[in-house]
Amino acid sequence: MSRMSSSTAGVGPVRLGPQARAALRPTEAPAVTGGFWYDRRVINAQVCIPQGPRLLESAGNLHNLRLVAGETEGAFRGDYPFQDTDVYKWLEAASWQLAQDAVAGRDTGALSAEVDRITALVAAAQQEDGYLNTWFQSGRGDGRYSDLRWGHELYNAGHLIQAAIAHHRATGRTELLDVARRFADHIGTVFGPAGSGRPIDGFDAHPEVETALAELYRETGDRHYLDLARYFVDRHGHGLHGHEAYCQDRVPLREAETVEGHAVRQLYLLAAAADLAIETGDESLAAAGVRLWHAMAATKTHLTGGVGAHHEEEDFGDPYELPTERAYCETCAAVASIQFGWRMALLTGQARYSDLIERTLFNGFLAGMSLDGESWLYVNPLQVRDGHVDGGGDKSSRRTRWFRCACCPPNVMRLLAGLEHYFASTDGRGLQIHQYASGVFHGEADGAPLNVSVNTDYPWRGRTAVTVERTPGTPWTLSLRIPQWCTEYTLGGVTTDAEVQDGWLRIRRSWTTGDEVVLDLDLAPRLVSADPRVDAVRGCVAIERGPLVYCLEQADHPGGGLDDVVIDAAGPLTVKERPDLLGGVVTIGGTGYRRSLPEPGWWPYAPADSSQAPGTPLELVAVPYHAWANRTVGSMRVWLPAS
Ligand SMILES: [Zn+2]
Repeated sequence: MSRMSSSTAGVGPVRLGPQARAALRPTEAPAVTGGFWYDRRVINAQVCIPQGPRLLESAGNLHNLRLVAGETEGAFRGDYPFQDTDVYKWLEAASWQLAQDAVAGRDTGALSAEVDRITALVAAAQQEDGYLNTWFQSGRGDGRYSDLRWGHELYNAGHLIQAAIAHHRATGRTELLDVARRFADHIGTVFGPAGSGRPIDGFDAHPEVETALAELYRETGDRHYLDLARYFVDRHGHGLHGHEAYCQDRVPLREAETVEGHAVRQLYLLAAAADLAIETGDESLAAAGVRLWHAMAATKTHLTGGVGAHHEEEDFGDPYELPTERAYCETCAAVASIQFGWRMALLTGQARYSDLIERTLFNGFLAGMSLDGESWLYVNPLQVRDGHVDGGGDKSSRRTRWFRCACCPPNVMRLLAGLEHYFASTDGRGLQIHQYASGVFHGEADGAPLNVSVNTDYPWRGRTAVTVERTPGTPWTLSLRIPQWCTEYTLGGVTTDAEVQDGWLRIRRSWTTGDEVVLDLDLAPRLVSADPRVDAVRGCVAIERGPLVYCLEQADHPGGGLDDVVIDAAGPLTVKERPDLLGGVVTIGGTGYRRSLPEPGWWPYAPADSSQAPGTPLELVAVPYHAWANRTVGSMRVWLPAS
């Protein structure tokens, strides 16, 4: 069993500091005990995380640590100066897993031993003064901090810090936290504003250390880390990296009007802005977070919650530039969007942030991992055309066991391993349920603890029962998020004094143990269309049911590809439970046809003609987007031309 002495087990990736000014606080010791996300986490625990060390070994990441620790000889392996982050993200995932296993009473021996072994390796690789980056230490590049644009040294530090915090919170042990603090302290002696006496006034072009330093402040109480985070956030946008949007340097965040540049970089930076707004009451950073989140949600997010419209530079595009087959939607960007959104949800108390988290989790994020946990997608397109020639490599639309740039798989592992921490919060006057999953969630009312159990088959079924397990004698408010997609619901059980406000269904009363509230969200399938400015999908509709976006796959439509498929938008949509398919899904049937496409000529354009050629009737079968690319290789599409 694990050694849990003096751990803060039950605390997740975000813990607010004592001075925090946030509407909501994460709850401690949430537990997901069954259902959809539980099943995904079992795969994560039994397949993904245990395979991590072997994959990190074969990709050379562990070799690189041994190399600079003087435990082996040879050359640096891999192509990037951020190879170490794959190790750190795995350590973070494994740490959250250890916390879960300990709470559930499972044996943690084997995983603990792997974490200990790799932690010792990380510690051995660290230099005397705290610096740690195997790329530069093994002689690649032009030396420490010579290349803040591509060097990723502080980005590496950020992931090390987050792993160390997870390890400390999960186990109470400090080996990794000591390593992370030494690196953070070293960074604090090197970086600072002009006139501070520190040699470098600059920032890493890949944000990540900022949000990590804010969390390190929360973990240690040392305010220097928070000050350093704020310095880095504000150092962006002043031209150190040529005012390039890619490097988050075009304008200061406080002046920015929209999200831009490299999507993951933008969103990690915004997560830090939200952290700083929470911890310091910085209103201009809070306003930037609200403003940029809205610009992203309203104009730069795909239906799946995925972000990043450009393969080139992994960037956000222009407003409404949301291509389907070239959607980038990096899996890491989905993770980053969820991390940013959760901090904004805590800061503001607004349900809409968790609306987008839900959409991203169930679609753009989850599609990144195969159903069996064995393979991954880096980019998550919304269409694969007939005749698509796949170039292979990291950006393939076919699942891959591991990537040359393996940022995404361990990012999925760490989010899944700590996922329960994004599901509920407390405002000190009750409990807010942000995401529906079976489990136990704790809140607080006037300093007294309370908890509820949740029972649901969401997202396959709309019914969620919440039972009060423990309650103080004074009244408190149970808040249930009514998702933005939901137009009808019924409420049963204890329903007096319920009202809906800004996406929250709030029930305030004096509760008794055993009181039950039953929320039933209508999951009738629906067709959605896009804002007319999204040129890429004009004239198309997509199928959704509850929080799930659906797609057509060629595997369900024999006799051709999908380029010629048209959906009858006025036709019925039928729901079918298919326990035999894709690990058990609900499919949606529709009617449509294959239109007669002209023989390919020398030129694919002709005088405009509004008449539609007749087609052959076709039964459409839509499957959840997150489950695509788990069968034979073939076409896929989310957006369907509509008749
Ligand atoms: Zn990635």
